[in-house]
Amino acid sequence: MKVENYAALEFPSRSANEGFARAAAACFAAQLDPTLEEINDIKTAVSEAVTNAIVHAYEKKGGQVILRGKLDEKGVHFEIEDAGRGIPNLEEAMQPFYTTCSGEERSGVGFTVMQTFMDELHVFSEPRKGTKVCLYKKIGK
Ligand code: ATP
Ligand code: MG
Repeated sequence: MKVENYAALEFPSRSANEGFARAAAACFAAQLDPTLEEINDIKTAVSEAVTNAIVHAYEKKGGQVILRGKLDEKGVHFEIEDAGRGIPNLEEAMQPFYTTCSGEERSGVGFTVMQTFMDELHVFSEPRKGTKVCLYKKIGK
């Protein structure tokens, strides 16, 4: 049986881990020999999803974030999962410029960026149970 390559990382929801997750995703995808543009798209999209899990999922006490990567013949899948507060209205949350954060730090474009830079985006979320973001990028189309 042929086992496709995969990897998983687990880390606490600390902003120090954003760069780590971003670099790990890029290193994992590098096996498929992507272009620099493809690598940059992956880094951008994965870091938006990981930042969301870090910033929005948990209250001050924090929690666990999991990043999984899996290769297939045509590209790379990523899953970013948290067990945090969940998103009550996904359709609304995924609209461009929708944010629940006040202030200037967030502009509400994270999901739009993921959609733009990847070939597939699927989000599963349940209030008080958590959120899972699934991303797929074809390499060398
Ligand atoms: P930006 O990404 O531009 O900094 P943002 O994070 O608010 O701003 P999105 O990434 O598009 O914008 O997310 C929209 C909204 O969806 C967030 O404001 C938040 O309310 C909710 N959200 C996103 N990810 C999660 C998550 N993992 N857990 C709970 N809520 C989330
Ligand atoms: Mg965001």
